[in-house]
Amino acid sequence: MDPIIVEINGPMVTQQCAAQIVRTIVELLLYHREQIPFTYGAFRKMVKNFRTNDSDEATAHGMQKIHLRKQQNQAEQTVQSVDNLFEIIDKCFEENPTVQEAMIIFGTTIYTAKESFVVRLPPIDRNHHGHNHRHALEQHLRQIAMKLTLSDEVSGNPNVKGPTNVHVLMKTTAAAAMPLNGGLCSPLDDYKLPVKCPQYRITLTTAVNGTSSPFSCCKHLKVFQDATTPTASDHPDAVAAQETENLSCWLQLNEVVRGFKPTPVKGCFLWTPA
Ligand SMILES: [Zn+2]
Repeated sequence: MDPIIVEINGPMVTQQCAAQIVRTIVELLLYHREQIPFTYGAFRKMVKNFRTNDSDEATAHGMQKIHLRKQQNQAEQTVQSVDNLFEIIDKCFEENPTVQEAMIIFGTTIYTAKESFVVRLPPIDRNHHGHNHRHALEQHLRQIAMKLTLSDEVSGNPNVKGPTNVHVLMKTTAAAAMPLNGGLCSPLDDYKLPVKCPQYRITLTTAVNGTSSPFSCCKHLKVFQDATTPTASDHPDAVAAQETENLSCWLQLNEVVRGFKPTPVKGCFLWTPA
């Protein structure tokens, strides 16, 4: 299967940029695979409003109230675990710029996966600071969202029917640098997807792949390095990644998102109180 290739309209990605890209793709897939009923931003807002609008519930009675309350709790858990997952994704990139790929898996467990998406990231450039590239990042995210939304792989007929679990894995050459101690992720020995599980690939490239860009935007970070001999970090990790490809391993992030699908109770939905 051909990968979906998205060329990012910029010379490089920062650590923060890479984390945000993975988060955006997870959000998009959660919605397109019907694990959440609305886009994540909208869903999160509605769920956060449950508590403040609790008086609405006073009009619902008996069993209806119990069922709606149960769904409310499930929706809150889904939002909380997506938020937790995003925090772990941020930490992984903060602590380890050698992350090359992320895999998003739909299925009860990773060993019974029904569908998977592998996101190949461009080399991360540690010489640049995400803060200085925030504006460009917003453009990149819109570009990625547009391309994926228009692709048959994402918008076509999904293999996943109904709510299931969503797992995120990261491939890295430096598992030791990952925040394992905090219990945020666990290394997997020789992980392989089930044979029947469709795997879609999303490959992200930068406009000037593999070449270091001028540091005029993030010059202050280079002050001390200028006085010393150039180090490997002056070049993105393309070469290193190539050499250590066979050393890379998958880590599973220790937060599994459970999909949520609202069901009407006596014609009443969670967000349309009786
Ligand atoms: Zn910069």
